[in-house]
Amino acid sequence: MATQAAGITNETVHLLPQTRQLRALHTIIRDRNCDLERFVTTSGRIIRQLVETALDLLPFEPYGVQTPVGQTYHGLRPVKPICGVPVVRAGESMEHELRAMSPGVRIGKILIQRDKVTKLPRLYYSALPADIDRHSVLLLDPMLATGGTALAAIEVLLAHGVAEDDIVFVSLLSAPEGIDAVHARHPNLRIVTSAIEERLNENAYMIPGIGDFGDRYFGTDVPR
Ligand code: URA
Repeated sequence: MATQAAGITNETVHLLPQTRQLRALHTIIRDRNCDLERFVTTSGRIIRQLVETALDLLPFEPYGVQTPVGQTYHGLRPVKPICGVPVVRAGESMEHELRAMSPGVRIGKILIQRDKVTKLPRLYYSALPADIDRHSVLLLDPMLATGGTALAAIEVLLAHGVAEDDIVFVSLLSAPEGIDAVHARHPNLRIVTSAIEERLNENAYMIPGIGDFGDRYFGTDVPR
């Protein structure tokens, strides 16, 4: 079983091992008194673990290299080039870490916001590599809450010819409601997350949660 959370047994949900160290990092960023600098550096440490886990889910092929002592190391390399696609704005926190880990990685962007009248997610902007259908795609959004934005972003990728199997959704916190919504439409789509929350509250915030991730990461939250 890929997850440890009660009720979620889907093999496509990859929950990071709930080590004491990971829980200590979560304790820092979930604290309402965590300052901006600590929030950015600590969430970045978790995001790097998520990205490494997501990269490990992509297809690899054998690849040998010569070592400095004249021997062959029988290694691996990714079959397809990788493209990171952050959902603006919060997903850009993950883009930052992905680019630091892999500076040559290609990056697309998707901007989706909830329409104030219809309450439905609306696509405002996307900029994706023309050949994104030949890439393995890491779809980056730290918050998987209702799943509405995730589903809309997945549709954008599928409309650009990306195969469902070539998408890994990477989120820091996930609500069971969001995971269920994604898998109701895309049962095999892989999700990597570092925490599965109890539920959503009436304002669609995760419980116990972290508050508004984008506001906290970019320092646009209301000063107390
Ligand atoms: N987006 C956030 O930033 N936080 C939540 O809890 C849910 C959605």
